[in-house]
Amino acid sequence: MDNCIFCKIAAKQTPSTIVYEDDDLLAFKDINPAAPVHLLVIPKIHLDTLSSAKAEHEALLGKILGLAPKLAAEHGCAPVLQADGKYTGGYKTLINTGTDGGQEVYHLHLHVIGGPQPWRGQS
Ligand code: 5GP
Ligand code: ZN
Repeated sequence: MDNCIFCKIAAKQTPSTIVYEDDDLLAFKDINPAAPVHLLVIPKIHLDTLSSAKAEHEALLGKILGLAPKLAAEHGCAPVLQADGKYTGGYKTLINTGTDGGQEVYHLHLHVIGGPQPWRGQS
């Protein structure tokens, strides 16, 4: 898509801070982070919203979601089960879809948001 900022990032025509890349996915730092760790995971193909994903995209969606815990762990946000049975750490995963879903960039992306509190739990 010519006018899509995330397609341009995927094509390396627009710079970003890339934290992961494979044949299908790219992950990079959000330009306006809502938390100490704020990453975006995108498919390299252009899909405008989650609602445009079809059965043929299920494996891709699985890859996107499966990458989130790996990135979170690499960036120090993995949840940790303490000896007292309570958890510390962790992160949010978020896909905004459509206008009422708060989507601003119409190229499917998963937010991975975490890091040491306090921060406002929003995207
Ligand atoms: P949405 O509201 O669509 O779920 O989130 C879009 C996200 O993309 C926002 O958090 C915004 O800060 C981020 N963003 C928008 N343009 C750019 C850009 O050019 N580079 C990077 N790294 N992030 C962007
Ligand atoms: Zn795109």
